[in-house]
Order: sequence, then structure tokens, then C-alpha cells
Amino acid sequence: MSIFIMDTHIDIPWEEKTADGLPSWHKRDQADCAQRDVERRFTVPKAKAGGLGAACLAAYTPQAGLDEAGHAAAWRRAQAMLEAIEDMVPHYLEGEAALCHTAAHIRQAAQNGEVALIPVMENGYPIGEDDSRIGWLAQRYGVRYMTLTHNGHNLLADSAVVREGPEEAHGGLSSLGRRVIQQMNRHGMLVDVSHASRKTMMQAVELSEVPVFASHSCVRALCDHPRNLDDGQLDVLKASGGLIQITAMGAFLKRGGGGTAADFAKHVLYVIRRIGVEHVGLSSDFDGGGGIEGWQDAGETHQLIQTLQEHGLDDSEIRAVAGENMLTLLEKAEERMTKSQT
Ligand SMILES: [Zn+2]
Repeated sequence: MSIFIMDTHIDIPWEEKTADGLPSWHKRDQADCAQRDVERRFTVPKAKAGGLGAACLAAYTPQAGLDEAGHAAAWRRAQAMLEAIEDMVPHYLEGEAALCHTAAHIRQAAQNGEVALIPVMENGYPIGEDDSRIGWLAQRYGVRYMTLTHNGHNLLADSAVVREGPEEAHGGLSSLGRRVIQQMNRHGMLVDVSHASRKTMMQAVELSEVPVFASHSCVRALCDHPRNLDDGQLDVLKASGGLIQITAMGAFLKRGGGGTAADFAKHVLYVIRRIGVEHVGLSSDFDGGGGIEGWQDAGETHQLIQTLQEHGLDDSEIRAVAGENMLTLLEKAEERMTKSQT
């Protein structure tokens, strides 16, 4: 069986912060994305070896100060990362991979035997106070989704994980965060609720005209971690048509850490039984902390699929989870975007 597999969260290696504690914009060369025997867990040769057809590459910004300098540095960093992602194909991967901005592009790349690379963002921090940046990110870089937060609150919304300060800053979404979601809907960007607090997530589901999704999160009923979604959250994903992309983080899969591909399969099965196979997919968080026994790098992706089969998923379920559900959701965002242009 030939199946299309899409991984919805992969980081690109980058220096985290400058000596001043600001998000670092110094470009990190991405030549190793074209190599097989390198430390990096996601590379295009590894993806090809593992049967991975599409990779969402995240321009991630670490949360720093909510001041002008912090926002300016984060905005500069996010754009530098998006440019680095854009440069990968012409510099290193001609004929091997394709930068894709729509579901149709992704399907076409898969047919051509090229690995689809999709630019996305992790953390809405670089938006600063300017929601018009959403249009720029979508039109200039083709960014297809963005997590509202990372760890720590920003100006848009409250985060699920707070390392210092109050548990809540806005009680969910701020008014800016609400405007940002409207802009995302208009510009075909999906609202990614991974890292968001429960209230932020529930409010985003209410507000967004396109179903929201969690690009890299697991099931709280199986592993009580603040980054995971509880049963109530899964139920609203079902009602709204959203998705949860189970992720290969050992600490989100199993209490105390050390989750494996078998645990990953249990989380997928839990979602299938509770809300249906059309609401679940997969992600690795490679090069951002992800990687588990049975799925250590992109080259082992076929092993993860085999583990899902061993846990009883049939061919049509595998297809849905491996990539079709995510393509369908991208298409919904594209339909909503077309509506705002006419
Ligand atoms: Zn993350």
C-alpha cells in the first residue's frame, strides 16, 4: 500500500537567543537538510527513506519580553527562519523537495516523488501588536498555520505552560488575539492551538470560522500533561471539525516520560474511539525535542505506520491519520480564504 504521510510539526535548527536574551535572528545554514548521515532528525533523504511525503517546517520563536525590543527581534527572527526554509529547495534540494503552499501543491509534489515542505509558525509572539502581519506572513511566505502561543503568555493569548508570573494574563484570548484569528481565517492560515491554555483553545474554537487544530499535542486522559488535550477539548474538536495531531514527545505520551511508538498508537486509538478517525493525525516535533523508540527520525516513519497497523488500524484509517485528514483541513482554510477574496 502506498500511503501519503504528512508530519505537521518539525523544527529547523537555529540558535535560540542572543546574549541579551532576545530571539536570535542569526541565520543558521540549512545544508544538512539535504544529507542523510547527520544529527538532524528530519532531512529530505531521511524523509524519502522513511516514506514521509510532507513536512511542515516551523519558524519558531522562543517567548521573550513583551516589549518593543523583544517583539522586533522575534519578528526579524521569524522572517529570517521563513527565508531559510524558502532557500532550502533552490540551494540544496532541487528535484528532491518542493516548497508547497496549498493542499493541491502538496498532492502534486507527492505525485512527483518530491518531499513537500510547508512553512508554518510556532508562537504568535512575532506578531507584536500588529495583526496586519498575518497578511504579510500568508502572502509573502505562504505560512499555513501558526500556534497562538509557545510556553508563556504573549499579547495574543494565554499559554498552557507558564514558567513564571501569573497563571493567566488575558483569561484566554486577548482582543488582539481575536483580531489575529479573524485575519488568519481571511488569509488561509489555520489556528494551531498546541501550546495554548484550555480557555484560549475553547475560545478559539468558538471564534474561528475554520476548524482549529493542535499540530503537536497528545491525549490528557492517557498522560496528564498541560500540553495535552482533555476529553472536553477532544469533544469540541469533533463538534467543530478540528484535528489533533498526536506527537512523538515521550513526556506527553507516558507519565514520567519514555513514551514509545506503541504509546503513540494508544493515543491515536483513544482519539479514534472517542471522536472518530477523521479527527486525528500525526507529528514528530523532530529537532524540537521529539523522537521516540520506534520513531527516532524521519527515516523511521514507515516503522510508526507499521506500529499503527499492528494496533489494528486498517488501510483507510491509516490513510486518514497519515495525511488525508490534514490535507482536508488545509483545503477548508483555502475555501474560507477564497470566500474573503470574492
Ligand atoms: Zn512546540
